[in-house]
This record gives sequence, C-alpha cells and structure tokens, in this order.
Amino acid sequence: MARVYYDGDADIKVLANKKVAVLGYGSQGHAHAQNLRDSGLSVVVGLHKGSSSIERARQDGLEVRDVKEAVAMSDLVVFLVPDHIQAKIYKEQVAPNLKDGAALVFAHGFTIHFHQIIPPSTVDVFMVAPKSPGHLLRRTYQEGKGVPALFAVHQNASGSAREMALAYACALGCGRAGLIETTFAEETETDLFGEQAVLCGGVTELVKAGFDTLVEAGYQPEIAYFECLNELKLIVDMMYEGGLSWMRYSVSDTAKYGDMVAGKKVIDSKVRETMKELLKNIQEGSFAKDWILENQCNRPQMRAWQQREKNHLIERVGFELRKMMPWLDAKKAPEN
Ligand code: NDP
Ligand code: MG
Ligand code: MG
Repeated sequence: MARVYYDGDADIKVLANKKVAVLGYGSQGHAHAQNLRDSGLSVVVGLHKGSSSIERARQDGLEVRDVKEAVAMSDLVVFLVPDHIQAKIYKEQVAPNLKDGAALVFAHGFTIHFHQIIPPSTVDVFMVAPKSPGHLLRRTYQEGKGVPALFAVHQNASGSAREMALAYACALGCGRAGLIETTFAEETETDLFGEQAVLCGGVTELVKAGFDTLVEAGYQPEIAYFECLNELKLIVDMMYEGGLSWMRYSVSDTAKYGDMVAGKKVIDSKVRETMKELLKNIQEGSFAKDWILENQCNRPQMRAWQQREKNHLIERVGFELRKMMPWLDAKKAPEN
C-alpha cells in the first residue's frame, strides 16, 4: 500500500515568503486561489483580458492581473487553465516573464509528460492534483476538512520542490485528508486510461449498448432509460460508499446472481485486450498526439461526434423523463 502523508509531514512555512500566481479561475482555479489565500499565502490570479472569470475572482476578494504581470511578480506559477491551451500560454506569456528560480505547478501532468511544455532545467516543476472537482475542494476546506490529493515532482532545481509540493497540498487543505506521492507519468497515464476505458468512454457506451438492445427488441425507450441509465446512479453511489461488496450486499440475490453469470460475458477477454491497447496508445503518446492535432484543427471530429451523440434516442427520452424528477435539479448541456 502507498504511504499516505498528512499535514504533520509538511511545513507550510516553506511557502511563506512566496507569491503564488494562479492562472485560471475555473473549477480548480477558484478553489486553489481561495484555499491558499485562506491558509495565509499571498495569491494573485492571472487571467486573460475579457475573461468571464475576472469579476468572480474580484468578488471573492482576490487580486487579478493579466497573466504576464501575475507571472512576473510570482515565485510559483500554477497552471489551472484548460490542458489544451497550457502550452500556448506558457510559450507566449509565462516563459518570457518567469522569475529566476520560480516554480511551475500543475494539477494534471498532461502538458509536461507529453512534452508540450519543456521548462528550463533551472526551475522547479511539481504537481498537486486534488482528487475532486474544485467546488468540493473549496467546500471541504471551508468545513475544516479536505479532499485527498496526489503530488509529484518532475524537476527539482532548488532542492526543495518536494517540500514545496507537500506544503502546497496542505495549504489546499488536502493534508487533512491524505496525500499520495506519484509521478507525472503515472498520474497522466492512469487519468487518461480511467476516463477512456471506464469513467467516460466505457460507461457511456455500456449504457447506450444496453439501452439500444432493449429498444431494438421492442421494449419502451422510457423503461430502457430507467433500467440502463437512471439506476446507474444508485449502483455507483453504493460502490462509492462501500466498494463492490457493499453494492452486491445491497442488491437482490437475483441481481447478484445475474452479476456473477453475465458480467464476464459483457466485459470479456476481448474487452480486456482492447483496454490494453488503449493503455498502449496512451503510453506511446499516440492518443496525446491525436488530441493535440484535433485541437489545432478546431476539433472537426469531436464536433461531429458531439452532434451525433446529442441526437441519440437515450438523450431525447432522458430529457423528457427528467422533468418527472423535480428533486434532481435537471441539467442541460449548452449547445456546442
Ligand atoms: P476550467 O475549464 O474549469 O477553468 C479554466 C479557467 O481558465 C477559466 O477561469 C478560464 O477563464 C481560464 N482561461 C481560459 N483561457 C485562458 C487564458 N488564455 N488565459 C488565462 N486564463 C484562461 O479548468 P479546470 O479547473 O477544469 O482545469 C484546470 C486544470 O486542473 C487542468 O489541468 C485540469 O486537468 C486540472 N484538474 C481539473 C479537475 C476538475 O475537476 N475540473 C480535477 C483535477 C485536476 P474563462 O472562464 O474566461 O474562459
Ligand atoms: Mg481523472
Ligand atoms: Mg482527466
């Protein structure tokens, strides 16, 4: 089992005289900036002109500057802008203004691990990746608690990058919950694999395949929606709270028997082979290359896919059925 680090393993004073530039004020940015500030650190938020986030950051009582200015005055530069634009921001606004001996901080390893940003050997580069969305990171901090986080050092020019990473994680409140050390490679590759094979790609196709099978066999789409999508939340909540065994303890014996005999037929050896292939594409950099190129040509493949997905019957049926569920605060994704 991995060693878990807590507040007592870090000394937040290593960041006491350092100014922190938080670039971006979205999901992670707003939580990092406010938690660090409330932990006594000196924070400036760096945003682009005309950003819709400027007003929110000011209302939260934070100093906001242009990215270049924020970088020039800071000792730590934290990249909390979307991954696919980090390299451009680094090249145009961060690198030319970076102070000697400054540290670059990330919440996800993609741009460093896949060489989209190649920092000079004279700077520290580390990662602190909270294992939660920003709003939960902020809320738990305010409640005197925290969420777990990963930390990793990519470059240790000063000799104290690891101490700074631990201190930064604790200033976010994550040392109250526990910190696990990783590497940029491990964090990036497992994150991409998880979202492709299980969390996003795997789950959405599993749901659609189940739904389509029932509808093609003549069952009502509304019933198929409840069975294959809506009820997934109940199952996931139980797995989240007590693992697979708690979920299996809670469902009926018939469901448990069905789980036993059918699960391995759906996720068979072919699927496991496919997962290995996905992992290989991630490790060899071909997924990263495709994603970077897709962005450079304005996402033609992704836009077409999103359009097709939006029109799937499960989406239209679900939109109507969720109107019957006033308790769930139904959401609608914006048009792309
Ligand atoms: P968001 O998309 O929520 O926020 C992006 C922020 O960057 C917004 O404030 C946006 O402003 C700002 N921004 C956009 N373009 C620029 C620019 N050119 N210059 C300056 N600021 C800009 O990002 P996330 O918080 O989701 O992700 C940030 C990082 O955290 C990523 O590396 C991600 O992988 C990582 N991460 C995210 C997690 C999550 O739960 N979301 C969890 C763990 C890590 P505007 O609104 O004006 O566009
Ligand atoms: Mg992830
Ligand atoms: Mg991810």
